[in-house]
Formats: sequence, structure tokens, C-alpha cells
Amino acid sequence: MVELIPSQDAVMQILKRTEAFREGHFVYPNGKHSPHYFQMPLAFRYYDTARVLAVALSRKFRLEKDISSQLPKVSMISPSSGGIPVAFGVRDALNAEQIYWAEQENGKRMFRQYVNQGEINPCIIVDDIIRSGNAIDESVDLVKSLVARIIGCGAIVKFDTAPDEIEGVPIKSLINFDVRMYESDQSCTECKDNVKTEHVRF
Ligand SMILES: [Zn+2]
Repeated sequence: MVELIPSQDAVMQILKRTEAFREGHFVYPNGKHSPHYFQMPLAFRYYDTARVLAVALSRKFRLEKDISSQLPKVSMISPSSGGIPVAFGVRDALNAEQIYWAEQENGKRMFRQYVNQGEINPCIIVDDIIRSGNAIDESVDLVKSLVARIIGCGAIVKFDTAPDEIEGVPIKSLINFDVRMYESDQSCTECKDNVKTEHVRF
């Protein structure tokens, strides 16, 4: 059976339709300007859309022999709350055994579940979007501290500013996004064109 993975364009259409991706003139809390804005949970508010995206990402993982050969004894790991619906959706599609997710606690990323060394299966780290890769890096440290192996990593959207691999594992994504981020209003094209600004959260 041939399992189709939707094209980058098809995925982008879903994100636009659900307003998870918008174009305009956005100002982030760190003062940077950008002509684009992702708010991935808007795509995951619809069950059908969430399922299409998660199944598509799961197919990319299933193609990896190191992952397919270990199922169902695999853990899905979400670095943040945004990745939780992705982790559950991909878990369903792969029939993986466990799900863990992390939260920020006093500025430190910790697993929500209290777990001991040796309790976690080989891990696939999934998020909704990977921007710098910091959250992924911190999750890698968490997983390693519990002596688990990382066999996969991926997100619906990956910025080109994020690394292409972690721990020798390629980072999978449905969209590789060419980021346009301006350090300040001086360098911003939309500012020069007097496009109305909108202040947004990350
Ligand atoms: Zn601007």
C-alpha cells in the first residue's frame, strides 16, 4: 500500500485555512518584526485537521527503519503544551505505547510525569513548530538524563533557523519554512511600506 504524504503546499493551505499561518506585519515580544505569524494550536482546534497533520507526520517517522522496527515499544515526547496534540495524534497513527510531555517549571523544562530511569521507551520528540530548536535541545537533555534513546524527532513546521538533526537523528517536518525575521523596525520591509502592525505572542 502506498501511503501518501501531503505536499508542503497542501499542508500550508490547511494552516492558512485554519489561520494557524497568517501573513501581514507582526511585532514579537522581543521587538523583532516579521511578515508572517504561526499560531499552530489554531490548526489543532479542529479534530479533522489535527488528524490529517499528525497522520502525515507519522508517515515520515514510519519510513525510518529504526522507528518502525521498534513499534509499539516507543515513547512520544512533547517538549511543550503545543506539541501535546501532535504527540497524541502521531501516537495514534503509529500505535506507540507511551506519551510524555514537558512543562517549564521555574524556568527549567521538566517532564509533567514523574518518571524514573529505564521507564521510558526509545523516544520520538514531536512538537507543533520548531523555531530555534532550543526546546528540542532541552528535551534531548531530559531524555538522556533518564537514559532513554532518541530514535526520531519532528514537527509540523520547521524553521530554516532550526538544526537539521539532533543526536544524529534527522528532524522531520511537513513544512520547511524560510523565515523572514527583522531585528528591528529599521530593517523591516513592511515598516518601510507602512503596513499596519499587529503585536503578537510567540
Ligand atoms: Zn516592521
